[in-house]
Amino acid sequence: MHAHGDPFESTDPATGEVVAIVASSTPEDVDAAVHAARSAADTSVWGSSGELRASVLYGFAQLLRADEQRLAELLTREQGKTIHESLIEIRGSAKMTEYYAGLARAVYGRSAVLGPNVTGVVLREPAGVVAVITPWNWPLTLLVRSLAPALAAGNATVVKPASITPAITIAALALLAQQPGLPDGVLTCVLGPGGIVGDALVGHDHVDMVAFTGETETGVRVMKRAAEGLRKVALELGGKAPNLVFADAKLDKAIAGAENAIFTTCGQICTAGSRLLAEDAVYDEVLERLAAVTNGLRVGDGLDPSSQLGPVASRAQRDKVLEYVARGRAEGTIVAGGAALEGDPYDAGCFVSPTIVADLPSDSILLRDEIFGPVLTVQRFSDEAEAVELANATEYGLAAGLWTQNLDRAWRVARAIKAGTIWINTYHHFYDEAEVGGYKRSGIGRQQGLEGLLEFTETKHLNFDGNDTLW
Ligand code: NAD
Repeated sequence: MHAHGDPFESTDPATGEVVAIVASSTPEDVDAAVHAARSAADTSVWGSSGELRASVLYGFAQLLRADEQRLAELLTREQGKTIHESLIEIRGSAKMTEYYAGLARAVYGRSAVLGPNVTGVVLREPAGVVAVITPWNWPLTLLVRSLAPALAAGNATVVKPASITPAITIAALALLAQQPGLPDGVLTCVLGPGGIVGDALVGHDHVDMVAFTGETETGVRVMKRAAEGLRKVALELGGKAPNLVFADAKLDKAIAGAENAIFTTCGQICTAGSRLLAEDAVYDEVLERLAAVTNGLRVGDGLDPSSQLGPVASRAQRDKVLEYVARGRAEGTIVAGGAALEGDPYDAGCFVSPTIVADLPSDSILLRDEIFGPVLTVQRFSDEAEAVELANATEYGLAAGLWTQNLDRAWRVARAIKAGTIWINTYHHFYDEAEVGGYKRSGIGRQQGLEGLLEFTETKHLNFDGNDTLW
């Protein structure tokens, strides 16, 4: 940890209580962290010992599992999500770490016979020093999703977590740092405001690659800054996922799926199915049933096991979401939620009632912006062509869902939607083995899966020519 600057607090969005006070990093801290990483990348055995990397990552996963209850409570207190979801996040992070621990021993290139007596060997080498910058909504999953493959591929890393969720990140990194054999400098961490600490990190001459997860506009800034040093970037950015319900869908499943799609993490998930599109013939029924489910959701402190939605992660986020709800009320019809949550226990926290808005004009900002809160918009379509057109009417392309029993249609529509993940008759199922990432303004590169590992490598061609000729 390189942090000797001014302190800042992380607070519980359910109660306003202080969860942790941590120090920001100074410019000298950022410099020291990157130099430590540079030295580890250039001189340690890390990049050349897959066995060591695998054992460190497996050890980390075991500690995550052993400590899951404490970590889940900390995550809920700091981020606000329900304890149920926090446990899913800790367990999923352990599982993903194990996946990349396995791949740490399989960072293979390939070879080819390129001519008579000529052989090429294509190596995969570590990218070098990787800055890992993470957001606050799934702080552990999104840390591990970049950090585990970066480490598995043999890189040295400098982590910069979001300032809303430093404590859960520090708690996890402390477990990783305990692993026997982890060379000094392979894992360092800096803390503090993104525009200062994150920017200094991205702009540092000794950073070879930036793996950034966050908002699209921040991603654009990060990419511009990284371009000054022509650094490699992997960007996982915002989303505005359409979720299409065709008239022939199994409606019970589609409605449960639509609820999960938008209200997971109180709508603060990049893949949130935040635009529900329903075919004319079932539009009224879908809307009515979804509104009933939504109005029945229990909102409360995430530590209370009966809460189905926690607060949003900060007061700023709550205010932003409530502004969108007010715009929705002015431009369309609120069919569920919409009311401010007041009284005990809501007054102390950052609670927003889960909300559905219909009848919006096609140019409404609610249909365009990533709201990142529990707000679902609903639109109708009359045929497949219109469904695809509406689905693609967004600058984002991270994910989409579709519900139909017609296999031909599922195939056609899934191929026509421009997004990195398309769920068919399901939503929000992630697999470590399957790549995720964005089309359009949702990102560059892919994470998870084998591609998620190879993102963190450079490719080198070694050419052996046994002929005594030049050209
Ligand atoms: P954010 O962009 O505000 O911040 C993300 C991280 O970047 C934080 O650590 C922040 O401190 C840092 N940062 C901010 N300005 C920076 C700068 N100029 N240089 C370097 N670092 C900087 O995002 P957030 O509010 O923390 O997270 C929510 C956003 O993340 C949403 O848009 C969501 O869709 C997106 N997200 C995307 C994915 C994905 O996989 N595509 C996953 C989760 C979240």
